[in-house]
Amino acid sequence: MTDSFGRKIEYLRLSVTDSCNLSCRYCKPEGGMPCTKDELSCDELVEIAKAAAELGIKKLRITGGEPLIRRDIAELADCLGKIGGIEDLSMTTNATLLAPLADELYSAGIKRINISLDTLDAAKYEEITRGGRLADALEGIRAAMKAGMEPVKLNTVLIGGFNDDEICSLAELTRHYPVELRFIELMPIGNTAQFGENAFVPNSLVLEKLPELEKLESEAHSVARLYRLPDAKGRIGLISPLSNHFCAQCNRLRLTADGCLKPCLHSAEELSIRGLHGEELKSAMLFAAMQKPQMHAALSATEHSQSRRSMYRIGG
Ligand code: SAM
Repeated sequence: MTDSFGRKIEYLRLSVTDSCNLSCRYCKPEGGMPCTKDELSCDELVEIAKAAAELGIKKLRITGGEPLIRRDIAELADCLGKIGGIEDLSMTTNATLLAPLADELYSAGIKRINISLDTLDAAKYEEITRGGRLADALEGIRAAMKAGMEPVKLNTVLIGGFNDDEICSLAELTRHYPVELRFIELMPIGNTAQFGENAFVPNSLVLEKLPELEKLESEAHSVARLYRLPDAKGRIGLISPLSNHFCAQCNRLRLTADGCLKPCLHSAEELSIRGLHGEELKSAMLFAAMQKPQMHAALSATEHSQSRRSMYRIGG
């Protein structure tokens, strides 16, 4: 699949639920939209992923909401991983439910994983997630490494006044563990109006606080600029959707838990593909790819995303 600007579309992110066991303040509004009761079934997701693979999708990411709250998550991963043409299957999770599932998921095909971790302070973790336990997330991270998942990427949304004082301590994790700690700029989407302008800090702050960072070669199609602390086992990634957007390299489509394709994370455009099969399904996917804008409108503390959905209803 190639879009109208010549970008090869090879990556599909599947939101498998928009329910979450946490309720991160920047992601999910308090008492926000009720979650989709009728989320796509395992069979529907696999049918869509197969059609996508036939159109050239090589990479799938399972996300949510929180994907691990789905009871059939291991079965789903197993079916997705077996689809011909899929070279890379991964998951984004808060990891608080991961520990008992990590080995099963690894066997089912989840060989690498992204885990959200915004702070190393248990009280702040509880506050930002509205009740989550840091210890559960850390246990999940340990279980992912023990299961053999590699790389384990830790996603930290950088929020001024909340965790910008932890840049060094979070980065320090990479000295001791072979993880990739990725600082992601807070995006003005969904529930971020409550955060003041100062919350939107550019990733250049990380470079200011860690002048010893050594630049590494970026990976093909990766949206992260990569660095390493001297002699560290792991790496630091900077993902800067505000200060350095990466629309020119965008190779992805997103599927919501209720069956809508989003050509662009930050546009309002959506296309329902639920109930479509065969050629009709593939045509709708090709159409969605063609609807990808060259770039999304500017994002900043005062320029809000045009997406009609909050992140928990898209999957990040
Ligand atoms: N529940 C899973 C998790 O916590 O990783 C997957 C879904 S969550 C919506 C996916 C990612 O989106 C998380 O890493 C989260 O931090 C990120 N995210 C949510 N809202 C965001 C925002 N406004 N700006 C930047 N990242 C955001």
